[in-house]
Amino acid sequence: MESARRFFQAGGPREASFRRRQLRALSDAIARHEARLLEALRLDLGKSTVEAYASEIGFVLGDIRYALRHLERWMRLRRRAVPLVFRPAAAWVQPEPYGVALIIGPWNFPFQLLFSPLVSALAAGNCAVLKPSESAPHTAGAVERLVEETFPGEYVRVINGGPDIAQALLEAKPDIVFFTGSLRVGRRVARAAAEGPAPVILELGGKCPCVVCEDAEVETAARRIAWGKFLNAGQTCVAPDFVWAHAAVLPALEEALKRAIVRFYGPDPKRSADFGRIVHAGHFKRLRECLSQGRVAHGGATDENARYVAPTILRDVPTNALAMQEEIFGPILPLRSFERLSDVLAELRSRPAPLAVYLFTKDRGIERRFLEETRSGALVVNDTVNHVTARSLPFGGVGASGMGAYHGEAGFEAFSHRRVVWRRHARWGVRLAEPPVRAPWQAVRWALRLFLG
Ligand code: NAD
Repeated sequence: MESARRFFQAGGPREASFRRRQLRALSDAIARHEARLLEALRLDLGKSTVEAYASEIGFVLGDIRYALRHLERWMRLRRRAVPLVFRPAAAWVQPEPYGVALIIGPWNFPFQLLFSPLVSALAAGNCAVLKPSESAPHTAGAVERLVEETFPGEYVRVINGGPDIAQALLEAKPDIVFFTGSLRVGRRVARAAAEGPAPVILELGGKCPCVVCEDAEVETAARRIAWGKFLNAGQTCVAPDFVWAHAAVLPALEEALKRAIVRFYGPDPKRSADFGRIVHAGHFKRLRECLSQGRVAHGGATDENARYVAPTILRDVPTNALAMQEEIFGPILPLRSFERLSDVLAELRSRPAPLAVYLFTKDRGIERRFLEETRSGALVVNDTVNHVTARSLPFGGVGASGMGAYHGEAGFEAFSHRRVVWRRHARWGVRLAEPPVRAPWQAVRWALRLFLG
């Protein structure tokens, strides 16, 4: 952290040409390390090549291309008006890097969720220290090697380890902290960052509800829900956590979901190259407990040695069960029915705000009600998960699902301090309200109103 701070203070990472060169070097390095990264992601999470490329490696390469395309515009000074009374003068906002960014990553997308923030941090002109998750050790090792080969250690560095290392890095006073993980740890991270104080971006989790209305296109809804849910074996922060379908469409939706699962992963998903594995034994046990809390309507098979949990539809899960209280974070999809939308909205309002609310309907009136009556990082209509891929949109949560956002320009802004520059004419200017003020109060007041706007 110290050497990174010295490197930053020497000014190197601020130069636009330096940022561009480093982003290009990163892109080349990722391409060179592609095979090693794919293998690490397969070993950690059983990710298929297509999934690992789309959601991790290719995703980050796209981030880099996007940043290179827009960097000049993002870095531009933004001129601002100066109140009449202070003219002649100029004022502008100048985005400036904070300094050393500490990026702490989770295990579920162990490459994307370290490198996508890294691209934003470097585009904004910072140095960075990355702390990968110890629960995805193969990727953590591959990432360390990639970074070591690509960047000087004082510019970008990977420090591998667990919570102790993360806390030590927080104590070393980073200038900005970017954390992706659970709410429990996120609170600790924010508390540690408060010592700086350093700005903190928290990308947390939550239970993303998925509501299917009576007028939904059931077949399409089922495919999109199954795709978003079973991607990465359900270990996705924006996965639809549970489905709440109108009683009139629930039976058809359940059948359509079963068909979608078989279409995606075949009759035995364990043999499918496209279906992932659970990250570790601890998480596997937790999921097996979730499975026991309802009636299995589809799937339900498990294999502890292979860390395999089949894509599963669960019915009749009591609302006080773990599976309905905590984020599931696995390939288990509870299905519930509703009669009245107002009941759904009331329950959603009583729950912590999730990263996304998924709504399947064609009715704009219902969409408006969800917008007005619920709170979440995003409201997604007739889709799941894909909104995350649009770099034109900020990605982040609110309340229990996090604070701050990134991706594209939002990422650049998250890692930039908006420094104000205010420059008056060296000699000329109105001397308003300079003591001693002798003019009658009414006249001064009139003048102040006029000039201060
Ligand atoms: P986690 O909170 O257990 O760990 C995340 C990181 O924090 C790891 O690198 C870990 O080493 C570190 N850590 C652990 N204890 C720490 C401490 N005391 N101080 C500082 N750092 C500490 O999360 P996880 O299990 O890796 O990931 C799963 C969670 O992440 C889920 O809740 C999921 O919803 C959330 N998530 C959110 C997003 C998002 O973009 N919002 C993306 C993926 C995952």
